[in-house]
Amino acid sequence: MFRLDNKVAIVTGGASGIGLSISRLFAKQGAAVHIFELNVDQAEREADLINANGGEAYFHKVDVSNQKEVKKAIDKIAKENTIDILVNNAGIAHIGTVETTSEEDFDKVFKVNVKGTYNCLQAVIPYFKNKGGVILNIASIAATVGIPDRFAYSMSKGAIYTMTLQVAKDYLKHNIRCNSISPARVHTPFVDGFLKKTYPGKEKEMFDKLSKTQPIGRMAKPEEIGSLAVYLCSDEAGFITGCDYLIDGGFVKLNN
Ligand code: NAD
Repeated sequence: MFRLDNKVAIVTGGASGIGLSISRLFAKQGAAVHIFELNVDQAEREADLINANGGEAYFHKVDVSNQKEVKKAIDKIAKENTIDILVNNAGIAHIGTVETTSEEDFDKVFKVNVKGTYNCLQAVIPYFKNKGGVILNIASIAATVGIPDRFAYSMSKGAIYTMTLQVAKDYLKHNIRCNSISPARVHTPFVDGFLKKTYPGKEKEMFDKLSKTQPIGRMAKPEEIGSLAVYLCSDEAGFITGCDYLIDGGFVKLNN
């Protein structure tokens, strides 16, 4: 008896960082996991590893910002399975204030983070209607408190925060639960890539500095987000919908 036995889950961006930890933990808890990814090599490798360890995982090459690709993949899964869970995790970041964010970059961030989430919701909800389903969106503390120099990113996460509430409200009567998780900094390739690009040669120093901006004194481990995702997507969380969960080492409420 595992917490996600017999569940079929889609995890976008499920081959790296937080998404990978969700894919692995979901599979460990009995779910069949469908990974939507751009990164073919990594996703194939990670799906193979999950299968080799006794889990069940499938890779679908899907760009979440492409509505046709998303719908095609979800329709294909739904032909053979009853989809139970959607985790909208795929996301990209951008550094810039309102003045230094180009229109192109603004559109790019919104296309992946906001439209990508919308695309997946729109394609999956018809399959969830009436029989029920669970949606988990990965937002960020940026949604509610902002992060310096992250204009487009913070706004996109704000949209995800609101989208969560809206979907929870509209589909309550269809037995669909929808929640979000708002992490502060999590040590993933996303953070490593940012440090390498922004502070070349000073990655370690900046890593330590960023870690200390969280009152708990370190970044989260991806598995710590994954464990909360397992709980929120399991039947144990059946009374929870329309909620955003901070998992931030005290960043939002204790940083003063
Ligand atoms: P990551 O870069 O390690 O992984 C993201 C994955 O998403 C990658 O494998 C990438 O290939 C995939 N992806 C990107 N664009 C895609 C697209 N268009 N279609 C399909 N897949 C796509 O990132 P992470 O740190 O694990 O972040 C995951 C999510 O968590 C993001 O939404 C991010 O905004 C959010 N988040 C991260 C942090 C953090 O500190 N790492 C904090 C708060 C929120």
